[in-house]
Amino acid sequence: MLSKEKTRKAIEIMGQVFPNARTSLQADTSFHFLLAVILSAQTTDIAVNKLTPAFFARYPTPETLASALPTDVMNLIKTIGLYRNKTKYMITCAQGLVTRFDGVVPHSRSELMTLPGVGRKTADVVLAEWFHIPAFAVDTHVNRIAKRLSIVPQKADVLTVEKVLMAKLPSQLWIAAHQRMIFWGRYQCTARSPKCTTCPLLELCAEGQKRLLQSPES
Ligand code: SF4
Repeated sequence: MLSKEKTRKAIEIMGQVFPNARTSLQADTSFHFLLAVILSAQTTDIAVNKLTPAFFARYPTPETLASALPTDVMNLIKTIGLYRNKTKYMITCAQGLVTRFDGVVPHSRSELMTLPGVGRKTADVVLAEWFHIPAFAVDTHVNRIAKRLSIVPQKADVLTVEKVLMAKLPSQLWIAAHQRMIFWGRYQCTARSPKCTTCPLLELCAEGQKRLLQSPES
């Protein structure tokens, strides 16, 4: 397992390679950012950003979306996957914001998670990316990178991955570490073809060293 010091070193090296790592989801308000995160489930940020300008213009506030017709919402988001479920979640989420939070997106994970369509990962992304409140959302990239670098046990579940990462890194680094690990997973240590031969983390990475022994071209 990678020590605290080496975990921090790995995150620092990721930051040198990707100094501008941050969310690419675009939004103008916390409400719209919350919707963008809900829309991004199993969809690329690029696909979400293509549809959100028209969608946000049509529904500028929780009140407007809370009273929307599902068919109108679906027509605006039908280019992305799971659009029927996302329509249902976003309308009921907006209704929850209006009836229970005076139309204001709450700043705590426990309150966010009472809203339809908002799980732990979505809540953590909103806290970290929009409100800059330290949180460590674990998505597929973070989970894979943490395991390939042996920061966490190989069989750790998502909650354990989150807890171990938070224990090994100082809280002021959580948001940046989350963003850097996502970029690392997208562009360096991809799921199918990690670029181990050119990886600046190779000396810290037993998985990469093993892969190179098995297939020196990887
Ligand atoms: Fe990923 Fe390979 Fe780098 Fe390890 S050495 S972090 S497996 S790309």
